[in-house]
Amino acid sequence: MAVTETVLGEGISFALSPEQQAVRELAREFAEKEIRPKAAAYDEHSTHPADIIEKAFEVGLMNVHIPEEYGGLGLPGFDGMLIGEELSWGCSGIAVSIICNTLGAGPLLVAGTDEQKRRWLTPLTEEPILCSFGLSEPDAGSDAARIKTTAVRTGDEYVLNGSKMFITNAGHAAWTVVFASTDRSQGHRGLSAFVVPMDADGVTIEQHLDKMGQRSTDTSAFALSDVRIPVADRLGEEGEGFKIAMKTLDLTRPGTAAGAVGVAKAAYDYARAYATERVTFDVPIAMHQGISFLIADMATEIEAARLLVWQAAWLLDRGERATLQSSFAKRLAADTAMKVTTDAVQVFGGYGYMREYPVEKLMRDAKLFQIYEGTSQIQRLVIAKEIFLGRGG
Ligand SMILES: Cc1cc2nc3c(=O)[nH]c(=O)nc-3n(C[C@H](O)[C@H](O)[C@H](O)COP(=O)(O)OP(=O)(O)OC[C@H]3O[C@@H](n4cnc5c(N)ncnc54)[C@H](O)[C@@H]3O)c2cc1C
Repeated sequence: MAVTETVLGEGISFALSPEQQAVRELAREFAEKEIRPKAAAYDEHSTHPADIIEKAFEVGLMNVHIPEEYGGLGLPGFDGMLIGEELSWGCSGIAVSIICNTLGAGPLLVAGTDEQKRRWLTPLTEEPILCSFGLSEPDAGSDAARIKTTAVRTGDEYVLNGSKMFITNAGHAAWTVVFASTDRSQGHRGLSAFVVPMDADGVTIEQHLDKMGQRSTDTSAFALSDVRIPVADRLGEEGEGFKIAMKTLDLTRPGTAAGAVGVAKAAYDYARAYATERVTFDVPIAMHQGISFLIADMATEIEAARLLVWQAAWLLDRGERATLQSSFAKRLAADTAMKVTTDAVQVFGGYGYMREYPVEKLMRDAKLFQIYEGTSQIQRLVIAKEIFLGRGG
């Protein structure tokens, strides 16, 4: 039993409820049976995992946070985080394709009216369709104030022009929440959020980007050219876009961090098994302290990252502000995934560097967690702001 499954005294329990255990087991079984067997081939060919998305939808592993009144399961963020770790243990590329609807739907959950939620979220619960989150641009990633996409109001419509870069699932999405400037002079305070159907006139997918890792998730660049969006599809008020994006990321970062824990755990599992099988100098390499200490550090750091993820998800489910804890979790889990997967390649020696073995893929996959949903540097920036502005630490 891992520390995270023991009860540590009155008031603080790390034990999963029977329902949470059931969700975790469902996700683990799905990862083992449906994801793992296809992970290597889908990675090699950058395959969009439509068949696996459909199965995940059927067994109830998608859109789990959409409230019951809009046709969803209404599960807490904690359960989504458990699903994120298990599916990513199977393959984080395929997992992100399945769970990225949480990011796409986030702005509607944060700022949508009842009517907007009914219109855009309910269809997600009726068939396995995808949505995406369009914040980043060719010249604006970490610094959203540099967003150049504009939305100009003309009567009951906005006309959107610009381009979006690195958008997960955009190439297969039914709609994307696009963040565009309604007032360039206001920087990030001039951003507004719009739901944009991807089949609207003027939306063009420009490129399905070719990536180092998580290759079975689509990442696309798209252009918006005189795209007309009704005022009714603006989320929140003009100028609230940045706040909506940041609140969404607060909600989704624990799930993303959980994905990083899943990748690290997969690398640890492979490394631990290999260390007991591979023999050098007449003993399994696990008997060499240099290797056993690597494995010991992996286990420790995975446990620490998971505990931070659990804490952030727990705080969010209590309705508390968790900007600091979400960034703690994302930063540590992403950096842990990178370190653990790199060390797993080391444990495998030369074989670790070969495509035939699973750990080089995990190392490529892990790198992305340090980049998307705010780089590890940006997480430190958020943490430092929280500390020095007196809201945390
Ligand atoms: C595969 C993939 C999927 C993605 N999916 C999405 C998505 O679905 N939706 C979406 O909107 N975006 C998405 N992104 C974009 C992602 O969020 C950005 O790539 C990320 O925020 C970094 O922005 P950038 O690439 O423009 O790098 P930059 O912002 O140009 O940063 C370059 C480097 O400078 C560092 N840096 C920047 N500013 C500072 C600072 N103030 N202090 C210290 N260091 C700093 C960064 O950490 C980074 O190392 C995705 C990206 C990738 C690669």
